[in-house]
Amino acid sequence: MSINVEKIRNDFPILSQKIYGKPLIYFDNGATTQKPLCVLETEKRLYSEINANIHRGVHFLSQKSTELYEESRNFIKNWLNAKFSHEIIFTKGTTEGINLVAASFGEKFINEGDEILITEMEHHSNIVPWQILCERKKAILKVLPFDENGELCLEKLSELLNSKTRLVSFTQISNSLGTINPVKKIIQEIRKFSTEIVVLVDGAQAVSHFKIDVQELDCDFYVFSGHKIYAPTGIGVLYGKEKWLDAMPPYQGGGDMIKTVSFSKTVYADLPFKFEAGTPNFIGAITLKTSLNYLNDLGIENIASYENDLLKYSLSKLNLFSELRLIGNAKNRSSIISFILNKIHPYDTGMILDKMGIAVRTGTHCTEPVMQHFKITGTIRASLSFYNTESEVDVLISGIQKVIKMFSVND
Ligand code: PMP
Repeated sequence: MSINVEKIRNDFPILSQKIYGKPLIYFDNGATTQKPLCVLETEKRLYSEINANIHRGVHFLSQKSTELYEESRNFIKNWLNAKFSHEIIFTKGTTEGINLVAASFGEKFINEGDEILITEMEHHSNIVPWQILCERKKAILKVLPFDENGELCLEKLSELLNSKTRLVSFTQISNSLGTINPVKKIIQEIRKFSTEIVVLVDGAQAVSHFKIDVQELDCDFYVFSGHKIYAPTGIGVLYGKEKWLDAMPPYQGGGDMIKTVSFSKTVYADLPFKFEAGTPNFIGAITLKTSLNYLNDLGIENIASYENDLLKYSLSKLNLFSELRLIGNAKNRSSIISFILNKIHPYDTGMILDKMGIAVRTGTHCTEPVMQHFKITGTIRASLSFYNTESEVDVLISGIQKVIKMFSVND
């Protein structure tokens, strides 16, 4: 089966609207994805039929919502091929997942002089939590660079690993360069150097494109956000190997993360509840299952192959502009395209495209070090999804032509 894009577009009501009288062309999927009707309907049905706080009630609705919440956890366990469902922690997103590991794992296992390795292409959410931890623990943050194509300099990995390296955290797909990193190979190399080093993979941009198997990857932690995978905002997942999650102290204290509380002694709950203090976003967690089922029905491989064809089509057109420079030219890349236009500020381009109904993102994409690498202030980023079409790409191309023409007149 391949992707029937016209049929699929009917599943996304937001796509049929007009912006400034022009059909919306949504190319900002790297920032957040649109939601299919089944996701919208699930949310509505949950709020209209079963809304009740989980884990705390004996009444029918509370039991029902608890059951669906735990069902979703189990579904995600299978979807990621985790070993146990208690290795799946619901968070509010990728950022929270990384902060949880940095705070909790960091509290127990990172000491003065220890080293944490990240890469130069990380999103701020995979930089700043480690900087905060390093400051707190007097640990050292090291950075694996990337080259001019936006590919990690993997030959430098062995130079950066040493007996002080405690944790390596890196992204599977760069949100500003589109580079797909060879996660399995990197982890194998780290494991070859030492089996003691803990590895976190930021899957924020990857989960909607690939089938993820955390056991096959052999990562210790894997994080992603629901809103980038056609689910609602405010829900995300942290996968962690049982041995680490078990050993880590709680991240936040409150209801649901305890077995018993008294003023003299509090006993924490077992996994996964130890890391889910307070009322979680149970509606989001249950709806996440709906969005994953939607993707399963389309077929992740079909999605990947459609998006790859659309990427190739877009690149073949964009490469015809002599004024356009791609930022990120990795051999293995996803459907995220960053570029700049000679002497034209990305913001101006974004504004003009917006008036044509085209939603692209402009700026640093929360990856300022990537911009520093290329000595630029920002890029224009078009991130494509399976509901985008070649004719939408053609409109983007004519938009870019228009921008170039407008600015060359003023030159
Ligand atoms: N990592 C990457 C690679 C991302 O693209 C993003 C979102 N742009 C994040 C982390 C942060 O995700 P969130 O804002 O959903 O927590």
